[in-house]
Amino acid sequence: MLLKTILNRVAPQKSFVYGRATLASEGGRLALEVEIDPRRDSRPVCSGCHRKRPGYDRLPPRRFEFVPLWQIAVFFVYAMRRVDCPECGVVVEEVPWGDGKCQLTTAYRWFLAGWAKRLSWREVAVAFHASWEAVYRAVDYAVAWGLSRRTMTGIEALGVDEVQWQRGHRYLTLVYQIDAGARRRLWIGLDRTEESLRGFFRTLTDEAKASIRYLCSDMWKPYLNVLAQEVSGAIHVLDRFHIMQAMNKAIDEVRAEEARRLKRDGYEPVLKHARWCLLKRRENLTEKQTVKLAELLKYNLRSVRSHLLREDFQRFWTYQYPGWARRFLREWCTRTMRSKIEPMKKVARMLRGHEGLILNWFQAHGTISAGVAEGLNNKVKLTTRKAYGFRTFDAVKVALYHNLGKLPEPEFTHRFC
Ligand SMILES: [Zn+2]
Repeated sequence: MLLKTILNRVAPQKSFVYGRATLASEGGRLALEVEIDPRRDSRPVCSGCHRKRPGYDRLPPRRFEFVPLWQIAVFFVYAMRRVDCPECGVVVEEVPWGDGKCQLTTAYRWFLAGWAKRLSWREVAVAFHASWEAVYRAVDYAVAWGLSRRTMTGIEALGVDEVQWQRGHRYLTLVYQIDAGARRRLWIGLDRTEESLRGFFRTLTDEAKASIRYLCSDMWKPYLNVLAQEVSGAIHVLDRFHIMQAMNKAIDEVRAEEARRLKRDGYEPVLKHARWCLLKRRENLTEKQTVKLAELLKYNLRSVRSHLLREDFQRFWTYQYPGWARRFLREWCTRTMRSKIEPMKKVARMLRGHEGLILNWFQAHGTISAGVAEGLNNKVKLTTRKAYGFRTFDAVKVALYHNLGKLPEPEFTHRFC
């Protein structure tokens, strides 16, 4: 079978024909060079206005890298024509397998981008003898293609979250669509300021904003401000995950402080391995941990009391009627404020301050499931870890859109990966 036959099947080029193929060696690696010629009597297409125009001259042959075959590099070799366009002047023609400036064919770019969803960029580069830059540019191309064609209307539920990026206190703002059945990352901004989040809303039309009925976020003030302004008609729910996370953080703080105090006073380090007993829900404890918890309970420590307060708070999420939930919330806050445990009191103050938004949970019940944003957030961490070696925000942004954005892709004649 001729190579041409395969190429015509997997990558037919309208108005062009495949010619001679020769095997060459390039840097110790085999390379196939396939010549391409314009079909006889076909007129070149102007790259400026995309119309057929009379030919002007031909440039020296150049190579376009195609998808490798059996780890043999494949290049198309073609001498670009220039057109004499009445509108655009003398410009280079448009070819279907790539664009004028890029050395990689479009098929090869989608191929690299496809693998970059499964492997780290570096692994893709090594596996296919490409440079890291080439992989980056391929993914960037796929993302730009998808972003310009995605639909941003009909979004009903929006989740806003922040994620720490790199070392130190650098953050990214992430916006998700969290409709049941349609979850994707919509936007990513540097930092976690009001301005970072406003950037997202600038990409939405008024119609798209109007369709948003539910919002879910943590208690970060700049987010609350922007969301209240931009989508005032939506029900804003404080994320259950973030509330429980704040509580766990408080328990951790109490425990650490108490462990230091006990050690200083010469008591046996009962709290040393107790972290998981305190953070886990009771029904999830192992037998050994249950014994440990029983031992801890004897001391009536502040850690234990914090733990019990947290356990008790779980009941909040099970209420059917917002009125009862409110009563419970207020009663819980009063009790916690009397506990004299400062980190827990801080949580209670925070809950009091956001009572309305927390109670919205009951209004949106069934629409926003707990931990949806959190699930996506974990994937973000995985992606940024895989993307390890990304130094710049632009690269991280591109990687996150690529992996979590569910961006559209073109229809392919043949799927290379
Ligand atoms: Zn033109």
